Amino acid sequence: MAVRVRFAPSPTGPLHIGGARSALFNYLFAAGQGGTFVLRIEDTDLERSSRESEKEIINALRWLGISWGEGIEIGGPNGPYRQTERLDTYKEYTEKLLATGQAYYCYCTEEELEQERQMLIARGETPRYLGKCRHLTAEQRRELEAQGRKPVVRFKVPAGRSIVINDLVRGKVVFDSDGIGDYIIVKSDGIPTYNYAVVIDDVLMNITHVIRGEEHLSNTPRQVLIYEALGMKVPDFAHISLILNAEGRKMSKRDGDTAVMDYFRKGYLPQAVVNFIALLGWSPSGEQEFFSLEELVKEFSLERVSKSPAVFDLNKLNYINSHYLKQTPPEDLVDLALPFLKAEGLFQVDKLSEEQRKWVTVFLSAIKEKINNLSEIKNYLPYFTGAEVEVIDEEARSILQAPTVPDVLKLLQEKIDDVQQLDPVTAKGILKQIGKELKLKGKDVFMPVRVALTGQMHGPDLDLIIGLLGKDNIVRRLQKTAKYYL
Ligand code: GLU
Repeated sequence: MAVRVRFAPSPTGPLHIGGARSALFNYLFAAGQGGTFVLRIEDTDLERSSRESEKEIINALRWLGISWGEGIEIGGPNGPYRQTERLDTYKEYTEKLLATGQAYYCYCTEEELEQERQMLIARGETPRYLGKCRHLTAEQRRELEAQGRKPVVRFKVPAGRSIVINDLVRGKVVFDSDGIGDYIIVKSDGIPTYNYAVVIDDVLMNITHVIRGEEHLSNTPRQVLIYEALGMKVPDFAHISLILNAEGRKMSKRDGDTAVMDYFRKGYLPQAVVNFIALLGWSPSGEQEFFSLEELVKEFSLERVSKSPAVFDLNKLNYINSHYLKQTPPEDLVDLALPFLKAEGLFQVDKLSEEQRKWVTVFLSAIKEKINNLSEIKNYLPYFTGAEVEVIDEEARSILQAPTVPDVLKLLQEKIDDVQQLDPVTAKGILKQIGKELKLKGKDVFMPVRVALTGQMHGPDLDLIIGLLGKDNIVRRLQKTAKYYL
């Protein structure tokens, strides 16, 4: 049977790293098997769901390059793909379950349920619903309804059943039905609960494999019982392990950026984020570390998804991202870098001029090997823009004390005055020329020039710094640092 998988986010917030990983694994599995990946929106939590979150999730998936062959926004033969638009369908199945006595109306109030809970806790038992409304007669139901009570629908959990799940990641997992009370499948407002709607949808969408986070493992027996009650084939399950933070605790918002688009905002490249997420719980068979999405499709298998928790390591993400930054030609990074430059007050224009684009390209070529993400661009701007410079470091100041420094910097000033246009190539020529004319070693030219222009002993390529600073900034910087050697 053709593989069909789905990602079924609840639109109650942005797409988090864990959700993105579930989406990615489903996508890779489907693509690798020539199957179909379905995107379905599980918005039955009316209070917490929103269209904005739905949009955000979709945008994040698109940014990562994870596409779906069927589902929300694009449609398909099994739609609609938003649960609140499928209420009639759930109703049909609820009626079947009620008619066959596999589900029943329950009229218990919050207070009654709370009393039962407290009683079970006092007895040292797992709080669960004990089935008070299981055997109500039609007469009793009428009376309760006459009191204005609105019923929920509960699923009648068979007693003494062991529910076996042969999880493709975790192996055999067994649950005892006696630990599960009759659970609600439809709330009093007629909206189905997750554990119920998910089954109906997975059945009707012909889902063959359910790949999702480990946090749903405890829901699985409840879902399996519904498949069985409806006489439907149970899909294969694969529950992927939790993602832990560096301290070994479950990743949470307190760990900083957990939303996928936080990484977009920080200037990570989508191919790096995909590569990083793929390695959260899955490992390739060989030594290769960097994978494009296409390569992941070829390599991915559920057999190599680990049972042990994955650890979110920001250093690893930085390492992967810097690899992709190095690989990307600087001109391809210009538009991505622009928002970060604008945030620093530069290029407040709608469209860059040719000259500005060239400047940014050279700037990026100078720094892209040094940064982990594009938001770090700002740390390098002082080298290349503006007239400000200060020599704070003692060692750097001592460089400007060498007897040859005044001549070097004076000659630099002259040569810069002489050129029409300053660019990295002319800058290189000028530095060479100074060494030749003053008969100095390269270092005795570069170091004082570097310190006098940037205040630092290290930094990006000096030709590029000179080329990008431009004549005016250089002249003003030289004036500012003259006090250290004159
Ligand atoms: N709506 C559920 C969630 O967002 C989906 C779980 C599932 O894949 O079954 O967690």
